Amino acid sequence: MHDCIFCKIVVGEVPSEKVYEDDDTLAFLDISPITKGHVLVITKKHYKDLLETPSSDLEKCILTIKKIAPKLLIALEADGFNIGLNNGEASGQVIKHIHFHIIPRYHNDNLRMWEGQSYQEGEMKDYGDKIRKFTIEL
Ligand code: AMP
Ligand code: ZN
Repeated sequence: MHDCIFCKIVVGEVPSEKVYEDDDTLAFLDISPITKGHVLVITKKHYKDLLETPSSDLEKCILTIKKIAPKLLIALEADGFNIGLNNGEASGQVIKHIHFHIIPRYHNDNLRMWEGQSYQEGEMKDYGDKIRKFTIEL
């Protein structure tokens, strides 16, 4: 058993406001919601992050998101949602157990996501080249 709060939520050692559960995934309310009804979807097995999670479990998370998200829209009368995943501390990942955020959104919620930057002349292609060196053979 990992010393992991989400693993403790899975086994019921830590309380949570569960909204959906199946054999492999669990969805519960984020304790500090970006908008109210913000849901976290986790695998029941412990994996540190997206890269450590086997594809089969990732698929299960996405399928759970696809099942729940339309219900959230109805239940909360939301207009849309963001799906988020923080991978690594630099991205803001605090809990080292894979979790997707489903954040209900409203036309008038006034939430602003990140600002876009701009590329200088030629820089966008340089970035493309830099990345393609590693992705092209995938
Ligand atoms: P992240 O920054 O992606 O690691 O997000 C972790 C999320 O887990 C944050 O949004 C926290 O508010 C949420 N969180 C932490 N502890 C709990 C808990 N016991 N129950 C529900 N949500 C939690
Ligand atoms: Zn865990």
